[in-house]
Amino acid sequence: MSYKWLETASFTYPDNIAVKYNNESLTYQMLYMHAHSLGTHMQALKLKRVGLYIGNSLDSVKLIHGLMMLGVEMVMLNTRLTPGELKNQLEDVSVSTVIATLPADIPGVEVIQYDDLFELETQTFIVNQPEPDDISSIMFTSGTTGRAKAVPQTYKNHFASHNNCQENFGYDSESTWLMVNPIFHISGLSILFRTVITGCTLIVENKFDEKRVWEILAEDKVSHTSMVPVMLKRLMSTEGEHHLKGLLLGGASTTPLLLQEAIEKKLPVYNSFGMTETCSQIVQISYKDNKILTGAVGNVSGYDIKIDESSDELLIKGGSVVSDYLNADLKQKDGYFNTEDLAAIDEDGYLYILDRRTDLIISGGENIYPKEIEDAVYSLSGVERCVVIKKDDEEWGSVPVLLLEEAVDETLLLNHLSEHLAKYKLPKEIHYVDKIIMTSTGKISRSQNQKMFLNS
Ligand code: ATP
Ligand code: MG
Repeated sequence: MSYKWLETASFTYPDNIAVKYNNESLTYQMLYMHAHSLGTHMQALKLKRVGLYIGNSLDSVKLIHGLMMLGVEMVMLNTRLTPGELKNQLEDVSVSTVIATLPADIPGVEVIQYDDLFELETQTFIVNQPEPDDISSIMFTSGTTGRAKAVPQTYKNHFASHNNCQENFGYDSESTWLMVNPIFHISGLSILFRTVITGCTLIVENKFDEKRVWEILAEDKVSHTSMVPVMLKRLMSTEGEHHLKGLLLGGASTTPLLLQEAIEKKLPVYNSFGMTETCSQIVQISYKDNKILTGAVGNVSGYDIKIDESSDELLIKGGSVVSDYLNADLKQKDGYFNTEDLAAIDEDGYLYILDRRTDLIISGGENIYPKEIEDAVYSLSGVERCVVIKKDDEEWGSVPVLLLEEAVDETLLLNHLSEHLAKYKLPKEIHYVDKIIMTSTGKISRSQNQKMFLNS
């Protein structure tokens, strides 16, 4: 099998629309020519590995394909990070050159603007034929639990991830995928791979505006897309027409309320679980499966996924799972990747993500999952954002503390929580904060909120 995906698509589906951004579109044949021409310019840079500081745009898609043709490893930088954070990440992977489609200023790093690439003298080159274990992209984890880990994603990993997604999500060369998640995040980049491997259309959108997304869904007859829960929520705050066959949700936990609303609004939602280390989702559950409203994220039958009996940690194996980090040691157990997420599998094989191991609160010998408390708080309605953190306690060891952004009726809240949770799980304190801290990928970080709250 060849991993020269763009070349294959340009032979097999030369006239299919490969990519569309605003009013511009390119067929596979044209995209191949553009990427190749960029390659002839970039050849002069003699890159082995390069940082990419890019937004969701047509240029970024051409750039990624051009670099793959040259066999250059791409370090996907999160454009929401500070210059200092970017500098540290680049140091972690020994990169001192960055190509940018956006204004960028990173200390100690040579930044080449995309438009300036065309000034470089052209050189011929032979299109790279990747080996399965060659690194295609390097992506950092969200850093939700601490220092972000550098994840080397190989061609084989991306292909396996696509294969698994296609089997469950059913897209083909006639499909149209919308990428509205950041291209530097695996939820975005994986869409680029899925579309080029299949020869179907990729629509790129650079920011999430619900009205605009509804327009694209209708006008471009989008068949598939991915969103994080916050985006789906915003999408459902307005209405529109669509031709969707699948809307994949992932990256963070989703409430059953949100899924139910989507199903009632005839959106074909799939909940999923995945990590940067698994090159996007590894299991998913369809809106057609009743268990979706129980919080299950998929069925593990047919997957090499199990729970470690002694620790309840989720262990996974598979073609899309990376084999190591570049700046840390990957946790393994019995030859499986240890996700360090606590999880459960029911008798029918459905997987439930309980919490991250580091977030578990052990109170008087009982395990308390902060997520369970947060889910109960969210089920009250009206609460947009909350986080449960762990506080040391002389009597119990540690206790859960609930942080909220907006005022709620505490008696009502506690009565509601008492109905849903055992007494030992009830938050021992409730506090209001100005802002619940989110990570650069838009997740609520318990550790950062905990640090901030306990030190203030
Ligand atoms: P870091 O590893 O640096 O702390 P991170 O784990 O948040 O950051 P990602 O790779 O972006 O980085 O996220 C993967 C994690 O997101 C999973 O390990 C899991 O904890 C969480 N997650 C993903 N999907 C779900 C889901 N459906 N339900 C609950 N948690 C989820
Ligand atoms: Mg992680």
